Amino acid sequence: MRVPLIAGNWKMHKTEAEAIALVRVLLQRVRFYSGVEVLICPPFTSLSQLHKLLVSSPILLGAQNISDLPSGAFTGEISGRMAAEFCSHVILGHSERRAYYGEDDALINRKVKAAREWGLLPILCVGESLSERDAGQASAVISRQLRGALEGVWISDPAEMVIAYEPVWAIGTDRSASPEDISEMIASVIRPGLAGQWGVEFAGGIRVLYGGSVNPGNAAGYFNQPEIDGALVGGASLSAEKFLAIIERTQ
Ligand code: PEP
Repeated sequence: MRVPLIAGNWKMHKTEAEAIALVRVLLQRVRFYSGVEVLICPPFTSLSQLHKLLVSSPILLGAQNISDLPSGAFTGEISGRMAAEFCSHVILGHSERRAYYGEDDALINRKVKAAREWGLLPILCVGESLSERDAGQASAVISRQLRGALEGVWISDPAEMVIAYEPVWAIGTDRSASPEDISEMIASVIRPGLAGQWGVEFAGGIRVLYGGSVNPGNAAGYFNQPEIDGALVGGASLSAEKFLAIIERTQ
């Protein structure tokens, strides 16, 4: 019922030429996989060109961030309206934006609302830090992040929202979390949190991805868990071979 989603977060990597080269390789091979959605989230600078390449292809295009504001004198910002010219999705609340750019739950909530206003499908990232986990606060942190980011957000279909559970200590560290632990956190904290917001039926239809050092070697372990509906992939999405191998593990 929940179609798996494999999303690549390229972060601040790839010039436009490098992005086009990578996408050309993905396009040759991605059509061999079925029953899976594939999304790439390159830097803003490549979105326009990649949009032209990917129109009517099976690869979806997403942004890595948007402003919470619609337009105006905000130097360096990109609005949801601008991103929606090229993108169907947007990553919001990523731990790097929370840690390095001071994004708190209130700002992320405004960004989720801005995304919805412009028809962008949010991939909302939540996850605890190592110290929060060691202090036994992981569940409370994730519940707070979900409540804060989703307050007053309405969806008419469970497909209009994606959650990515990304324990901060597992991102870019080669220290992935065990598939069983992730599955347990989704079942006991994330879905009940979503149910509190939108009811049990909707919560059961919302895709929850895992993110944190996913690679071709460990991906199948996550995808074998019924609670895990795909992956948000950072480092390994920069290599066409690795990203395709991860997609292949869903088959
Ligand atoms: C991410 O940035 O969302 C991520 C999961 O990165 P990595 O796969 O490199 O850990």
